[in-house]
Amino acid sequence: MEADIKKGHFIHSIIREDVKNNKNDGKVVTRFPPEPNGFLHIGHAKSICLNFKMAQKFNGTCNLRFDDSNPAKEKQIYIDSIKSTVNWLGFEFNSPLFASDYFDKLYHFAIALINKGKAYVCSLTADEIREYRGTLTQTGNDSPFRKRSVEENLDLFTRMKNGEFDEGEHTLRAKIDMESPNINLRDPIIYRVKKASHPRTGDQWCIYPMYDFTHCISDALEGITHSLCSLEFEDHRPLYDWILDELETPCHPQQIEFARMNINFTVLSKRKLQRLVEDNHVEGWDDPRLPTLEGMKRRGYTPESIRNFCEIIGVSKKGSRIDMGLLESCLRDDLNEKSPRVMGVLKPLKVTIENYPDDTSEELIGKNHPQKEEMGTRTISFSKQIYVEQDDFMEDAPKKFFRLSIGREVRLRYAYLITCKDVIKDESGKVIELICTYDPKTKGGNAPDGRKVKGTIHWVDANDCIDAKVNLYDRLFKDENPEQDKQDLIENLNPDSLEELKSCKLEKHLVNAVPEYVYQFERLGYFCLDSRQASKDHFVFNRTVTLRDAWAKFLKKR
Ligand code: ATP
Ligand code: MG
Repeated sequence: MEADIKKGHFIHSIIREDVKNNKNDGKVVTRFPPEPNGFLHIGHAKSICLNFKMAQKFNGTCNLRFDDSNPAKEKQIYIDSIKSTVNWLGFEFNSPLFASDYFDKLYHFAIALINKGKAYVCSLTADEIREYRGTLTQTGNDSPFRKRSVEENLDLFTRMKNGEFDEGEHTLRAKIDMESPNINLRDPIIYRVKKASHPRTGDQWCIYPMYDFTHCISDALEGITHSLCSLEFEDHRPLYDWILDELETPCHPQQIEFARMNINFTVLSKRKLQRLVEDNHVEGWDDPRLPTLEGMKRRGYTPESIRNFCEIIGVSKKGSRIDMGLLESCLRDDLNEKSPRVMGVLKPLKVTIENYPDDTSEELIGKNHPQKEEMGTRTISFSKQIYVEQDDFMEDAPKKFFRLSIGREVRLRYAYLITCKDVIKDESGKVIELICTYDPKTKGGNAPDGRKVKGTIHWVDANDCIDAKVNLYDRLFKDENPEQDKQDLIENLNPDSLEELKSCKLEKHLVNAVPEYVYQFERLGYFCLDSRQASKDHFVFNRTVTLRDAWAKFLKKR
């Protein structure tokens, strides 16, 4: 079930109007432009869904374009991961585009600006440039190199390109207005010398265009009609427009800004996520506790649930922090529909059924989904020894404890009614085994005499099950807003965000489990095979999400 908010958001309205008025010949072309300097996170999903869905709605196209003009931090592994993640989210693109493919054209556009007297080579140092730029309250001062002749600028820029200068010696700057109230317009740098090898162009270039110069021209070259970006680029829009107005580009896309996604109890910034990974606070970029899309995929998040979440939170100009509970509830809604049910015991307690025949077992029938007949059934073996959850037994149980205690009867899901007769304890007094009896006339779980048994518990056959480790996850941070600058991100980590249960017993059926395929372990939550830790003879499952929101109460109380 995918939410479709009929009314649409403000960007939807703008595009609809444009199409109606036949602007851009009624065409819609959008793009998702990641910088390949890290892995995508759920915040990026908002931008991906927005761009691809707008294109889909108006029969347009959406490009995946790598904004790869800063070779220092960009890597091929990020490019590969981003491509497969966009596909995984459910979006198709033509072959990916790269800003680096436009380096030649960008260079010629820079020459065109110089020829127009709208760009100059500046020889101030980085510190001097900062000083001359002024502040929010003080206008800037013209660079002493601002009046260089076109010929001199062309000569110096060519020599910058030819590698004759060191990094920082010269930059190419747009000649706009050092007195502009918008600092972005105070002669921004558009090219710098950088003697770095680029993942795609190798050592062909030793000057690289800056983001603001690259982005608008790349958009224009691709015929983008609506360039959708997050709010921090609002102050860059006048520069975006200035560059395109000065140059003869094929078109002039419209930049529209929207608020970034923020979610409580996590961080959505590549730089901060990088710190967690590099300092080994998590297992890697795909740690299931991270909000990276690779991590969420490994955890068992479905693309549908993420798309649905993005649809529900909508798109607006106003930023807000979204409750993690909403993301998880989108996931539960999807998994509840799709996931087959199985049984697993996370903290096993052995049960011997005294009056069940020795050395036999039988096959019971379990439904794969309580409401969906079409999902079929499976067989579950039952024998004299089973495991139940430690929590489903209590020695001095209150009246309302409808599970196991001496003298009490419960229903074993899909099996029989059993009654606890006795317990076996170890030297410390801990209960290590239950002795029960079963009523052979209650196969399937109902007593022919109609006696009422309230509790139903899950179990697995001790003689025919698999051993597994199960990872339980909780919030990665203790504080709702770990991004607040006052706080140290690391001190704010939740020390209990991972609990490893090493001696779980699972229904045999789960030998067939594959990563990303999520099961509901009845009464416990949703789980999937871990793609990294599991191997052929070592089963490791991740808890994708609990059945209910344990944090809802906490959040309501505040
Ligand atoms: P980060 O701050 O995590 O490094 P970024 O903005 O630098 O993110 P880019 O690779 O430049 O990452 O992002 C590609 C696109 O995704 C941009 O258009 C950006 O606006 C958008 N984007 C990034 N983070 C979010 C977010 N939290 N919510 C919505 N859109 C986002
Ligand atoms: Mg960025």
